[in-house]
Amino acid sequence: MLSFAHAVKLPTFVEMKNLLRGLWLALRHAWRGWRRDTRYPMKEGAFTASPHGAVTVPYPHAQLPVPENGHYRLHVDIEDCIGCDLCARVCPVSCITIEKEKSPTVLGYTRSGAPKRFHLPRFDIDHALCCFCGLCTVVCPTECIIMEPVYAYATDNRADLVLRFGERAGVSPQPAEPGGGA
Ligand code: SF4
Ligand code: SF4
Repeated sequence: MLSFAHAVKLPTFVEMKNLLRGLWLALRHAWRGWRRDTRYPMKEGAFTASPHGAVTVPYPHAQLPVPENGHYRLHVDIEDCIGCDLCARVCPVSCITIEKEKSPTVLGYTRSGAPKRFHLPRFDIDHALCCFCGLCTVVCPTECIIMEPVYAYATDNRADLVLRFGERAGVSPQPAEPGGGA
């Protein structure tokens, strides 16, 4: 019968030393990270001012600040859309689908005073295809298609990544809090 020492391989002195050293390193990093996070609270916007660089944050309870000019999820303020199709035509991956019907009369005016002549039953953006190049936001004459600072909208359902802003979709998605989910 095997003795306990033969059945269980006991660590050597060197292995024990390495194990304790690794443990000490992990604890030291955790302690320093915790202290740094306390000294540079993100809500005060001083996170990136840390002279020691970034540390891990307890996401999703805390989120790193993101630059305003980053490329994020798209939002369409459909009330200001004139249905010109420029965004769909410039899109390199054809992920904007617009269906429109011409109205015999002017339907209203955008905030910038442009007349609206089209009903827009469908205005879909498939974020599973979008490459976030931002071209659609550049060509829009009424600046109604924008990138809102939302990046946390992961889902296990691909259909959830199609955002619908047209009249058929009912109420369009509202701009969310920075970093918030869809
Ligand atoms: S950001 Fe680029 S890829 Fe995405 S919808 Fe706009 S034009 Fe298309
Ligand atoms: S470019 Fe702007 S106004 Fe024209 S269809 Fe797209 S979102 Fe609407």
